[in-house]
Amino acid sequence: MRTGYRRKAASLAVLAALAGCSGTPSTRTSSPIPTGAASPSPEPTRSAARVNARSVRADELGVVPVLMYHQLLATPKGDYDQTPAQFRAELEQLYRSGYRTVTVADVAAGRIDLPAGASPMVLTFDDSTASQYGELPDGTVDPATAVGILLAVAKAHGDGHPVASFYVNAAPFRGKDGYLATLHALGMEIGEHTATHANLRQLDDTGVQRELVQGLAVITRQVPATDVTTMALPFGVLPRNAALAHRGSWRAHAYSFGAVLLVGADPAKSPYSIGFDALALPRIRSGRRTGDQAFTSTYWLPKLLKNRYVSDGDPDVISFPKAEAARLAPAFAAKARPY
Ligand SMILES: [Zn+2]
Repeated sequence: MRTGYRRKAASLAVLAALAGCSGTPSTRTSSPIPTGAASPSPEPTRSAARVNARSVRADELGVVPVLMYHQLLATPKGDYDQTPAQFRAELEQLYRSGYRTVTVADVAAGRIDLPAGASPMVLTFDDSTASQYGELPDGTVDPATAVGILLAVAKAHGDGHPVASFYVNAAPFRGKDGYLATLHALGMEIGEHTATHANLRQLDDTGVQRELVQGLAVITRQVPATDVTTMALPFGVLPRNAALAHRGSWRAHAYSFGAVLLVGADPAKSPYSIGFDALALPRIRSGRRTGDQAFTSTYWLPKLLKNRYVSDGDPDVISFPKAEAARLAPAFAAKARPY
């Protein structure tokens, strides 16, 4: 586990309460990212030779969009839903803009290994609903589900191994045995979202820990090989004892998560930058609403083109323009390569 994570429990509780799953996000944790003309995106390239970070305008202190998805529905019912066509179009746009997938666990661990010029994006799916993953009778991935669409879009852009992070409850994907194991085998991250999708603020300390231990057991029973290292708060709501969201135990079964996902409403900071807090990772909602108060992907993605993380292609060093040096977290000074 890396050191350097910062806790902001008091402000977190406020943010989480305001940014609940079914509520309207009404605050942000930081200033808006300045708008600007979209800069052309360099085509991601992976080369054995160290590329010139300047040539790809690497910025590994830039922000990372962590996108939150729920259901794909032909007729969206809520703010979090998209049609399959909307989801496909958003993925197409992201890939065309130079984004490639990493998991929440990758970001939390500062383990971003992408081709030079590529930008990390994190796709998160909550509640393990049927539209996220399904299989055809022959056992292949249903191309109409979110995973099927992701695999197809990624392949069309030369990415044979896209990843995403799935936050699941008890009886995930309508109780289909084997689905979690298949997702894990596809390289997807499986994360904790409590056993019953509980509002953790309404439970006492024992109840919080019981929910998380039982939720964890659902995953480890189906996928013994997986290491569950991240969780998403149902409704974005922290327990009253906020520390129990990431560490605790119940009936001698312990849990410890390196990342806690909120519901709203900003892009995440680079894991190498000052202020990065894996225990309070904000997410951008998928969705079609527009306007400055919506905090959706529609609002954010155009703004990120000038402020986003851009990889130098070398996971062993951290490249960024010299002008941004003050944003580097001191723990990463030895790996820093300002230019
Ligand atoms: Zn949920």
